Amino acid sequence: MKCTRCRAKAAVALPRHNAGFCPECFLVFFSRQVEKAIKDKKLFTNQDRILVALSGGKDSLALARELQNMEYDVTGLHIDLAIPESSERARGHVIRFCRDYQIPLHVIELEREDLPIPKLKKFFKRPVCSVCGQIKRYYFNRFALENSFSVLATGHNLDDEAARLFSNVLRWDTAYLGDQGPLLPDEQGFVRKVKPLYRLSEFETANYSFLSRIDYSFTPCPYSKGASFTFYKKILDELEHHQPGRKISFYEGFLNRARNTFARLDQEQGKEPAPCSCCGYPTTTGICGVCRIRKTISSRTTASQPTFSRT
Ligand code: SF4
Ligand SMILES: [Zn+2]
Ligand SMILES: [Zn+2]
Repeated sequence: MKCTRCRAKAAVALPRHNAGFCPECFLVFFSRQVEKAIKDKKLFTNQDRILVALSGGKDSLALARELQNMEYDVTGLHIDLAIPESSERARGHVIRFCRDYQIPLHVIELEREDLPIPKLKKFFKRPVCSVCGQIKRYYFNRFALENSFSVLATGHNLDDEAARLFSNVLRWDTAYLGDQGPLLPDEQGFVRKVKPLYRLSEFETANYSFLSRIDYSFTPCPYSKGASFTFYKKILDELEHHQPGRKISFYEGFLNRARNTFARLDQEQGKEPAPCSCCGYPTTTGICGVCRIRKTISSRTTASQPTFSRT
């Protein structure tokens, strides 16, 4: 197969684009997809201070590298989840990456916050990924606001977004459907959140990281096994295999034709967020999710007859 752009030998085949690229042209293709996402969805400009959530995996590191190449003002934030083996490795990759590419980096340690994920896994009946996600969103948002970043960027790719949409549709979770998309504007205590890789598949970000020689973490989180998202991704991969382009048309079709309907529904039904009575974080439930996690832990460690609570 020949490169669609320069006719040299192709190294990466992309059936959904009916194209193939040599290594150099693939990197150009990747940049153009990111640029298109930023411009089409008005994610940010060169005036913004962008905080990139760095997990140590291929997507977040590829995102930081690409935004730096495009001369955006980027800073990294890593949250050390204190999960045996995987967290230490992930943190090492992030530190080396930021040192090599001279990207400023901040690290929040959940151990120091007394919220290490393995401890929380023991305390809560609900899936640990839901607790972990809630805590990460809290600290990313809080750090961004307290340190005057105008944008929080995450490395979610097309596979992540399509799987999330699929999951939300299966449950007809209208609140989540109204909130899903590559741009969540800033409002009432929430920083603007963006996903500039939403047009690129996991295969494409992996190729970008490989061709850019980014040394990313391969060690999966031990709690990711059996997560429903992994299963949904497999179903969508099968669909994409038989119908190339199906994932992006599913996701973009939602953005263009359905999302606003759910966002309106959400606004009509939604309560206005107010500051958490413990920490000031915006919440619609009086006390925010992370403060409720803390309260549950302290009541369980002091009570003789512990009870679980759901948030
Ligand atoms: S797999 Fe779940 S527990 Fe592990 S890092 Fe991801 S969200 Fe957190
Ligand atoms: Zn080429
Ligand atoms: Zn709180």
